Amino acid sequence: HILPDHIANQIAAGEVVERPASAIKELVENSLDALATHIDVEIRGGGKTELRVADDGCGMVRDDALLAIDRHATSKIRDETDLKSIHTLGFRGEALPSIAAVSRFQLETAPHEAGTETGEGMDSAGTCIRVNAGRVMAVDEIARQPGTSVTVRSLFLNVPARAKFLRSAAAETRAISEAVTRLALANLSASFRLRSNGRDLLDLQRTSELASRVGAIWGEQLADQLIPVEHTAGGLRVAGLIQRPANARPSSRRVYLFVNGRPFVDRFIARAAEEGYRTTIPQGHRPAIFLYLDLPAEEVDVNVHPTKAQVRFRSKIRVEGAVTEAVRGALEGLVSAPSLGAEPPGTSQLVSRPDVDRRFLSSAASPPSADQIALFIPGNKEPTADSADGPAAEGGESTWEADGAMWQLHNSYILAETRSGLIIVDQHSAHERILFEELMRGFEDGVAASQRLLFPITIRLSPAEFQAVEELAGILKRTGFELEPFGANTVIMQAVPNPHPHFDAESCFREMIAELTSGSPLVDSAGTQHERVGKSFACKAAIKAGQPLSGREIAELFDRLFATELPSHDVHGRPTILRLSLEELARRFGRS
Ligand code: ADP
Ligand code: MG
Repeated sequence: HILPDHIANQIAAGEVVERPASAIKELVENSLDALATHIDVEIRGGGKTELRVADDGCGMVRDDALLAIDRHATSKIRDETDLKSIHTLGFRGEALPSIAAVSRFQLETAPHEAGTETGEGMDSAGTCIRVNAGRVMAVDEIARQPGTSVTVRSLFLNVPARAKFLRSAAAETRAISEAVTRLALANLSASFRLRSNGRDLLDLQRTSELASRVGAIWGEQLADQLIPVEHTAGGLRVAGLIQRPANARPSSRRVYLFVNGRPFVDRFIARAAEEGYRTTIPQGHRPAIFLYLDLPAEEVDVNVHPTKAQVRFRSKIRVEGAVTEAVRGALEGLVSAPSLGAEPPGTSQLVSRPDVDRRFLSSAASPPSADQIALFIPGNKEPTADSADGPAAEGGESTWEADGAMWQLHNSYILAETRSGLIIVDQHSAHERILFEELMRGFEDGVAASQRLLFPITIRLSPAEFQAVEELAGILKRTGFELEPFGANTVIMQAVPNPHPHFDAESCFREMIAELTSGSPLVDSAGTQHERVGKSFACKAAIKAGQPLSGREIAELFDRLFATELPSHDVHGRPTILRLSLEELARRFGRS
């Protein structure tokens, strides 16, 4: 049998329109395709009683309006070649007939008359079509302003099975609010208003700034915690805003992804974005992420699902890689040190690495701006880097401060004066970060710093540990541990890494293997085998709290810390640096 239209529409409705939120998504997408700049959504009873989407878009003439409620009638594509390069949100011609098939449906529309000047507030010849559960009841001429409004009452009135599955009005309202939020984040140049039972849920002005839209939705505080992302690689652009690591919270996920202006969900790409944060946030914390991907239309298929919530990329791996890279790039050298002051959360100051780099490593120093950190060199002004004309040669630099303003406190913390106050560095955490990054770089370059032992050490392991060592032998070797099996569950250590003079290779090795065998939050987190070994090694091999350091050692620690990609956090995601500003001190002493 060939199904009569009204049955086919009911079946399609089951795919396209799952719940009020999906009807609203389709209607708002139509408004956006009609180039509307003001979109008004009103709902009652979570959209189950009534929902309405009104726009000031191009509108339709009578014939087109009648066509629009026919199945597979679309003004947006013509044939299958157009399918390969879709630039509109809709293209399947299913939404209006599907919704009309399962509700009391009313479409009111009037076109922007071509040629004639329709002044502001002027009505023009419009059309009103009423459909009842798929049956056209009336087609009337009306006078109205250009634009379209669609009203849907008693959704699923003739599909009781589906109506039964709808959730509470509150839950449906949440889903609607989420759907409108997604579309509003994807279309900044339109204003959006969402009202539920006469109360405003969203009222978003047109804007050109993503941050101000985020601020209008979630509040200025979140907007202030975001840093920009901008990355292009081989025709793929990743841009947007991401939350600073220090502001990430263990709350639910707030990851918004868009491709070529269309919202989509994909947990692998969401994870790739979080992967970019690597070790900068504690386990379980979730940063807010707003990422916009742009790539050639033929690289992405948006027609894999009737509701178009998912998309398919031609090269998923490449997209994931670019997303991780983009996030990492945004965080790199832009690290925030939490303040010890009573400033509101989210005001952590950015510490800029390149500036510190210049200071320590090159002769081309330019004066740092006030909010950049100006560390200075410890007591002995000997150049710590290989350039003899390093910082010490710049005696005349006005930002250069006096000798000796760096101290080790209780053999555990380093205090250093900065331009805007002081910072406190946890020596163990700092060294952890340094060792981790140096090791990861070594893995990539294939170099391992290793020292041959004069007297090899014999180490007896448990069977499980012995097996782990055999599995990880290659990575351990590149970490610097050269091992030979020696009978039952025993290995001989021939060479060891040499991260610092106080390093105890045997206990480091034993602790690492125990951790990698039995697991720990540190090594159970996502990541490659290399990363797990790298984190474990960094944690066990780093200088400990309580280790006295010479001035030179302190200088070297700072030097290497600020040469890392992410100096602000150790491999557990804990901060390495705290800062205390002069303003905060003045405030505490009652001077301001
Ligand atoms: P699709 O969006 O896939 O084309 P729809 O069923 O959603 O299919 O809409 C059918 C057609 O009706 C659209 O192609 C468009 O021409 C017209 N249309 C729908 N909504 C609007 C609107 N708000 N403003 C102007 N035209 C609209
Ligand atoms: Mg549509």
